Amino acid sequence: MRNRIFVYSTIVLLMAVNILVAQPVKQHGQLAVKGTRLINKDGKEIVLRGVSFGWHNWHPRFYNREAVKWLADDWNCTVVRASMGVGPRGSYIDRKDWSKEKIEAIIEGAIKSDIYVIIDWHSHEIHTGEAKAFFAEMAKKYGKYPHVIYEIFNEPVKDSWETVKDYSVQLIKTIREVDPDNIILVGSPHWDQDIHLVADDPIQGYENLMYTVHFYAATHKKNLRDRSDYALNKGTPIFVSECAGMEASGNGPIDDKSWEEWISWMEANKISWVCWSVSDKKETCSMLLPSASDTGNWHEKDMNESGLKTRDKLRIYNK
Ligand code: MG
Repeated sequence: MRNRIFVYSTIVLLMAVNILVAQPVKQHGQLAVKGTRLINKDGKEIVLRGVSFGWHNWHPRFYNREAVKWLADDWNCTVVRASMGVGPRGSYIDRKDWSKEKIEAIIEGAIKSDIYVIIDWHSHEIHTGEAKAFFAEMAKKYGKYPHVIYEIFNEPVKDSWETVKDYSVQLIKTIREVDPDNIILVGSPHWDQDIHLVADDPIQGYENLMYTVHFYAATHKKNLRDRSDYALNKGTPIFVSECAGMEASGNGPIDDKSWEEWISWMEANKISWVCWSVSDKKETCSMLLPSASDTGNWHEKDMNESGLKTRDKLRIYNK
């Protein structure tokens, strides 16, 4: 009898734990794009919300499984973004194996914590050959996991949409040869501001593509939302893979009013959003302070204003 009570109470306890621990990927599974919306395995619309790690080459200390677990459990992130720096000295181009190790720690951490993960080619210029080789390898290794989202070009700066489109089609072909279905995020020109150009001439012939818009709320306001509305009205799916409350430089004061306007707009349009960034540089957008440990367990004293506000917003919207 006593045994039976023990067994029953253990089952009830396990069920309770299961309900308490969010398991976004178990719940939503393989994602797809329908119209302008992201949908889950049951065809229901879904909004992902989370944070981006900072450039891996400058902030490698946070690139570990434990930090991902902390962001999933304590910040309620349903997605994290691994920003593999490509371009500056010491980034992917000259430290390939080390860079992949860092990125894979985030990918594997996300799979273990059952949240989605964006593999972000964090570049401002085109490196077609390297990008193809990298994403072919990632797709082979991780394309079977519903957790994974590919972001093939963080922020084009000088390249025209014609050039970015040509690069993107090559990358999409490379990924689709291996992974037929996971979401691919395509950058739009001019730091992901020129979404209207994308809307006028979108990529044809491939499924499950979304285009990125990035905003920094103290700099970018209604103008960029109007452009994005134009794109949505033309059927362009948008994913905000980077955003924050301060100026586009990553510094200056947070504009709370503008940030809230952006969040209301994204929520109204069911657009997923990822905040920049998990790093500890002395700047407004770096959410952590040097006292923060490498592996999570961050207390309020380890976070700056942007970190505290971002965590609050994620806890509210991802409840
Ligand atoms: Mg797949």
